[in-house]
Amino acid sequence: MMDIRAFIDKQLAQWPEAQMCHDDLARIRAKTLLVNGIKIKVQYNPARERSTTAKTDAASVKNRPCFLCPANRPKEQIAMPWEAYNILVNPYPILPRHLTVATKKHVPQSIPGKIPDMLDLAKSLDGFIILYNGPQCGASAPDHFHFQAVESGHTPIERAVDYWIRTPASSILGKVAIREKLSFSGIHLLMSGHNPKEISDVFTKIYQTMISRQYITDEPKMNIICRYTKKLWHLLLIPRTRHRPDRFYAEGDAQILISPGTIDMAGVIVTPRESDFEQVTSTDIERIYKEVAFFELPPFIYPHDSL
Ligand SMILES: [Zn+2]
Repeated sequence: MMDIRAFIDKQLAQWPEAQMCHDDLARIRAKTLLVNGIKIKVQYNPARERSTTAKTDAASVKNRPCFLCPANRPKEQIAMPWEAYNILVNPYPILPRHLTVATKKHVPQSIPGKIPDMLDLAKSLDGFIILYNGPQCGASAPDHFHFQAVESGHTPIERAVDYWIRTPASSILGKVAIREKLSFSGIHLLMSGHNPKEISDVFTKIYQTMISRQYITDEPKMNIICRYTKKLWHLLLIPRTRHRPDRFYAEGDAQILISPGTIDMAGVIVTPRESDFEQVTSTDIERIYKEVAFFELPPFIYPHDSL
């Protein structure tokens, strides 16, 4: 068990800007909205503007220094090595104890082969959930592989998962229980089990089927959340149709700067602009979720016949 909390305290003590942003979380403006029958949170977080509006197309990424590589990281930022990764404190947090866990090597954001690391990390970081933003679904560094981790207990989706795991599985593969669930942010696939290798194998099968049935070569659009609790892993796959909703690209008053990544899909919506925070309604959020996620099960997501 690593002493992650001591590491975070040490980092914040020697990085005033990050300390300020982490302290601000406690007093940040937030509101609750009823979205598809569930209470979700909206927060006004101006420090996130750069991330929300990040250009993640190949040309833009190629022409900027990678902020996850040691040479370009802020001079105040320290790293805690873990396996093939460096654990870093996110200076612009959305949730308490927000971490970025980046590979030591500069390799692309791509999930195949990384699920075992995600499961291992979830067990190692006690009291945290691990998050993955696909390269086309919220990762602001699609060129450098990274997970995020946040303290558990702050997202509406975790309460939904707590409820779902007490309901019957849709199917069982090996000893992995698979549940397909409609949440406030679309159709999710929950894989639960005691054996990380088995969960990873089930994920791989689903991933490969998504690729073959969508006739694509890129990574299927997705967010993933992993939690380890009571000796069980829970891996939640959130398939996505697109990254940003229409209103993100609208002009003038119609524009809303919401760019959904995993945390937004988990029910904590980030608005870096105060006007968006004040004006955004339940209907707006429902429409945004409808645009970026699946609300009816497409045949490639849950391949009963091929598993
Ligand atoms: Zn890098």
